[in-house]
Amino acid sequence: MWLTSKFFLTSIVFFSLKFEILAQVSALGINPELTTNQRDHRIKEVCSLLTSYFANNESHDRYKLWNSNDLVRLAVPDIYLSYFCASEKYSSTCSFKPYLLQINRVDATTYSAIISFSKASPSFISIAGIVEIIVVDLKGTFKISNTLLFSLKKNKWRQVTIGNVIFNLSPRVLFDEKQASSLIEFDTKISKIFGLRPITISYISTADFAEMQKIRGMHFDLDAVQGGAAQTDFDNNIIYVSNGRLDYFHEVVHIYYFQNYKKTNCYNQFWSEALATYWGGSMEQTLDWHIKQIRRAREFNDSYNFHDLENLKSIDSLPMTNMSYVIGALLCKGIFKKLGDQNGLHKILLVNDMDQTYKLIENVLGVKKNKLGEYLRDQISQL
Ligand SMILES: [Zn+2]
Repeated sequence: MWLTSKFFLTSIVFFSLKFEILAQVSALGINPELTTNQRDHRIKEVCSLLTSYFANNESHDRYKLWNSNDLVRLAVPDIYLSYFCASEKYSSTCSFKPYLLQINRVDATTYSAIISFSKASPSFISIAGIVEIIVVDLKGTFKISNTLLFSLKKNKWRQVTIGNVIFNLSPRVLFDEKQASSLIEFDTKISKIFGLRPITISYISTADFAEMQKIRGMHFDLDAVQGGAAQTDFDNNIIYVSNGRLDYFHEVVHIYYFQNYKKTNCYNQFWSEALATYWGGSMEQTLDWHIKQIRRAREFNDSYNFHDLENLKSIDSLPMTNMSYVIGALLCKGIFKKLGDQNGLHKILLVNDMDQTYKLIENVLGVKKNKLGEYLRDQISQL
């Protein structure tokens, strides 16, 4: 599931939330150069494997074509499909056309296939993404392999495991023990508050955005925003950060929120971001920092409208502040103050939609929807 206002995202979340993603993907197109005049006969094998892969609608059939070692490690090895196909911008209106552009030999038994996902209408073609998919020759049997796992191994990334977190560090990132310990400490605290067992998390720390994209084979992403500091792959419990830090708390909260969803089937994007921002800040700034910025902004002091919590309008002078995230976090603060962290959280975790959100606010904080603006103004000026 994608969020709507990409520009302000501190984190982008993606997962294959209950839909069969390949229903929206059509058959694989192939660059004709790849099937003619090839000296390497194995290129044809790679093409036919990928063709079968995209022809399968059911994930269990697709996974038969996958390197079985990857399936032990990853619940959803082909996460790029949900990443592009779950985009709100596209999923409701189009089907994706995958096109195999190029195949490169990486070593004696490995090939790298470059595939674009495009959306076409009679008047235009728009490329949503270009991904690299790895194909391995396992003694004559060709299998698809996960690009992230392959790249981590090939590029010899340093791996440090502490508690339930496996830190994977780019050669350009230094291991900062203090940051790593603070993440573990935070993880322990959060798992207790959620009442969940600590989750095994793979934490991928990269030096910059380009490296973060490349390590998992994202060569081009139409929606990608430079400066988006982190992403979470919920299906596989993988956190990606692009600023080299090892203490990105915001994404850890998302992982526990999603785990809770698997248990209760309750999911609400507004609260997921609200909780993540309450405990982990946003855009590398704390909740208090954002509130102070809002308080000073002219647009807030003129006539800012707080009625639609899910789609709060951005303030032009505050490009770092996602208003829905920050106001949600402020509401968490009010709820936790009234009920305590654990009880407050358990009420929030039962919320499935915005109607229930306004009911919760009214029940716990005693604030009706039409008085929300007044309440929030008051809170913002007090902080
Ligand atoms: Zn987030």
